[in-house]
Amino acid sequence: MVIVLKKDIPQQEKDNLKQFLEKNHFHVNEIAGEEETIFGAVGKLGIDPREVEILPGVERVIPISKPYKMASREYKKDNTVVCVPNNQGQTIKIGGQRIVVIAGPCAVESREQMMAAAERVAAAGAVMLRGGAFKPRTSPYAFQGLGEEGVKILKEAGNAYGLPVVTEIVSADHIPLMNDYVDVYQIGARNMQNFELLKRVGELGKPVILKRGLSATIEEWLMAAEYLLSSGTEDVILCERGIRTYEKMTRNTLDLSAIPIVRSLTHLPIIVDPSHAVGIRDKVPPMGLAAVAAGADGIIVEVHCNPDKALSDGAQSLYPEQFEKLVRDIDVLAPVVGREIFRIRRTARKAPAQNTQTQENAKIICAYSGGRGAYAEQAIMHCFDGEAEELPLNSFREIFQTVSDGRADYGMVPIENSLAGSVYDNYDNLVRFEDIAIVGAVTLRIEHSLLSVPGASIDTIRNVYSHPHGFPQCAQFLSQHPQWNHIDSVSTATAAQTVAEKGSTENAAIASDIMVKYNDLIVLAQGIESNPRNYTRFVIIAAQHGDPFDCDTDPHINKASLVFTTKNEPGALYRSLGVLQQQNLNMTRLESRPIQGQPWRYMFYADVTLSEDKTVKERIDAIKTAVAALKESAEDVRLLGIYHERTAG
Ligand code: PEP
Ligand code: MN
Repeated sequence: MVIVLKKDIPQQEKDNLKQFLEKNHFHVNEIAGEEETIFGAVGKLGIDPREVEILPGVERVIPISKPYKMASREYKKDNTVVCVPNNQGQTIKIGGQRIVVIAGPCAVESREQMMAAAERVAAAGAVMLRGGAFKPRTSPYAFQGLGEEGVKILKEAGNAYGLPVVTEIVSADHIPLMNDYVDVYQIGARNMQNFELLKRVGELGKPVILKRGLSATIEEWLMAAEYLLSSGTEDVILCERGIRTYEKMTRNTLDLSAIPIVRSLTHLPIIVDPSHAVGIRDKVPPMGLAAVAAGADGIIVEVHCNPDKALSDGAQSLYPEQFEKLVRDIDVLAPVVGREIFRIRRTARKAPAQNTQTQENAKIICAYSGGRGAYAEQAIMHCFDGEAEELPLNSFREIFQTVSDGRADYGMVPIENSLAGSVYDNYDNLVRFEDIAIVGAVTLRIEHSLLSVPGASIDTIRNVYSHPHGFPQCAQFLSQHPQWNHIDSVSTATAAQTVAEKGSTENAAIASDIMVKYNDLIVLAQGIESNPRNYTRFVIIAAQHGDPFDCDTDPHINKASLVFTTKNEPGALYRSLGVLQQQNLNMTRLESRPIQGQPWRYMFYADVTLSEDKTVKERIDAIKTAVAALKESAEDVRLLGIYHERTAG
């Protein structure tokens, strides 16, 4: 049963309640949710819920109607996010906003085979490495795996590329041989109902991928998960891998309808193994994509560098090139279902081209959108003082992905303009990329000019190119020329480049006059922004390493950004903002964005200033207290960063 505790329950009452339940042979688990704290109590003997409901400190009791208890949504409303650290200080999260791709061969066959596979799947975007060392084969004469040696090889290969490893356990006797090397245990389809194995693996407390049995119903599968959960692990990942039906064209029948069903029944994450489901290499990628479209938290795929020579499951193993394409396709598909792909951060970057610097003193890389001369490039110059190598990219999303992957150290992204308003894309990107933090901000004065090719004049112009924000910022100037066509470009820098390339005196661009340095252009008019007080605020993003409150090395921190969702109840936003006021934090911005897939629910972004009259510790403590208090009145509270905001001229 689920026992919802009163909000202000004293510790003594909590202890008494726990003792009472344990005396009645209940296993009690305290779960602090976003809205309420509950006791999940699971026991063999029944007890009348009314007996519990009258105890001090109890708000209400909800009996769990399902045979599986700890696995049920009734027991835990919030999704379980399984965290698996790698050896580079990054945590791979399964069940969160990001989609995980796990890949590797069916079996570990040799060190060379495993290292080669790990290199290819890591480069393509896998975040965990799979490989069986103890293989449950249908025939006793088939390759049974390398055993202990195989697990060691798997771990060595995973470590070389920052990939935690997943491997199947077939007998509890193997735990001593495996435990030091395994990050995530896999319980195979054939062992889904090996209850003794489930209990022993559950006791280890490590994450477990639980494959669906060959002919298991969803309920039987969740009951198997219950064995793991009730034995001690909280981290169970369900894996749909196809079930046996009368259809013989595929190895099994992939039951994608299980995904939305499982989602509603349990809080546990669910991934899909299209390889064992279809059993035919060319049919695997479409089903991997379908799994993502159906809402899976990830996929686990078999990949082999030489599948024709594979000792097991060669026919269903993807060639590395096929796997690379599959990951690229998932990358494109994921945003359609409101998600992004998870990637391992690459710390070992190549030194920048055309210089001989070594890795240690290689320049830091800052990504931005737009070409040479873009306003973001000026912002980088201002903040990094020429110390950063600028990496131009084509979209804001690509900047976030590149920083998240570690291919760039920082990203410079516009977040709002004083005349045109918010850059909504980037607010959304900040939410989607959970492992990105704001580490700095700069406000840049934007001075637009009208640029064209030599020989042009105001009278020859017919078409004006600019970023969509450029036009409203120059609305007054443009209203004097109502006959001009407005054409959108990716950035103001691209607009200038296009005009230069086209070479026609009919075209002009709204951009910075810096662009004349890079292109054969002239300035037709300067300062054409409607209001000279035209500013764009850029934020500097970086990958989040560890505790976001660990920022006391910068004495200049003066700003913090938060994101949160309010509960759907009267006064929810009012109370949340009250928390900021109580900490004497001056809120300088509040922006609301609709939550994807949840009509009429909103996320709020708030910026607050931190008084430089206070010590750095006091500033951080104020935010810490506010974040803790905010968690009482709001949901999904996330600190985006505490940082130094500067103003450029
Ligand atoms: C495997 O992952 O290699 C495997 C044997 O899978 P399943 O248990 O789903 O058949
Ligand atoms: Mn296999």
